[in-house]
Amino acid sequence: MVSVSAPVLLLLGRGKDSASERGVDCPGELPAPSDPGLVERARAAKAALGDRVFVLGHHYQRDEVIQFADVTGDSFKLAREAAARPDAEFIVFCGVHFMAESADILTTDAQRVVLPDLAAGCSMADMAVLEQVQQAWELLTDLGVADRTIPVTYMNSSADIKGFVGRNKGVVCTSSNAKRALDWAFARGEKVLFLPDQHLGRNTAVLEMGLSLDDCVLYDPHKPNGGLTDQQIRDAKMILWRGHCSVHGRFTLECVDAIREQVPGVNVLVHPECRHEVVNSADFVGSTEYIIKMLEQAPAGSAWAVGTELNLVRRLANRHPDKQIMFLDKTVCYCSTMNRIDLPHLVWALEELVAGRVPNQITVDPDTAHHARVALDQMLALP
Ligand code: SF4
Repeated sequence: MVSVSAPVLLLLGRGKDSASERGVDCPGELPAPSDPGLVERARAAKAALGDRVFVLGHHYQRDEVIQFADVTGDSFKLAREAAARPDAEFIVFCGVHFMAESADILTTDAQRVVLPDLAAGCSMADMAVLEQVQQAWELLTDLGVADRTIPVTYMNSSADIKGFVGRNKGVVCTSSNAKRALDWAFARGEKVLFLPDQHLGRNTAVLEMGLSLDDCVLYDPHKPNGGLTDQQIRDAKMILWRGHCSVHGRFTLECVDAIREQVPGVNVLVHPECRHEVVNSADFVGSTEYIIKMLEQAPAGSAWAVGTELNLVRRLANRHPDKQIMFLDKTVCYCSTMNRIDLPHLVWALEELVAGRVPNQITVDPDTAHHARVALDQMLALP
């Protein structure tokens, strides 16, 4: 029997653990949000830094921040964009902590990655901490199945978890290549330990790989033995970690039914981080980049209910006024941690760089970075 560690509870914006995905103070004097000169200050600081700085903006960022991004994208695209800019001394990552870690892993030692607010973490990434995953692996080892299990982690996980996966001959995946990663894993083992998003793991296994729901079990790190019997673990093909996205997990079957009733003929388009029953009832499922492309290519006059983060859905609706693009949920649904990066934080970070100080630098220790890079490189090499 493997013991269970108590969950770490940190309040957003408080605490001192800079290795956590959340819960740390932002040092420094931030400009007031009401300062009417913020846009001009951001422009001036960016111009003063010139090619020394490269600003990355995740699709879920606020408009006030995204206007200063040199490139926008999902976490994987942004990490690759950072790696493709070896001449930029500073990478300012407008996204969340695990993304900045991946950028640090993929960029050169001379480049510095800055996260404008250290409290911008990801609640999903926080749901799998290294100690818990090591305990789960010990359990699989005790049951004699670890050597037949391939760990696969979603990009949305900490560098520690990516490092664990790299050490144990696994692979990182994104929402676009999860099926290819699972094909690769099942060619090398009989089971997959899928971290940390149960929904992406289940949706890919069942809807794309032809596995059944009975082939999947849910491992809860807060319960003894993960809340499973030894036999359930031995029989399972997919051991899903009990993690989820607090944004995409909000969409329900009732949301889908309600929008279909209100808007006859509407196309329901959702992200695979949504719950299984929501994905099952949607018309189209895909990553953020897929959602953007689908809406670009959609015919004028068509109606779309989109199940992903609200900043992006609103931006897409503004970009395509000829199409009816609406949010799938009735209530607003931002990623609260992504939203921690606002214009005052961006201005502060850029002005600190102009002044010769590097604020909120994100670094991954060399050993973890090495193993995480192995798992990331394995993903890049997927057939
Ligand atoms: S949208 Fe979900 S997965 Fe993405 S950063 Fe926010 S909580 Fe994490």
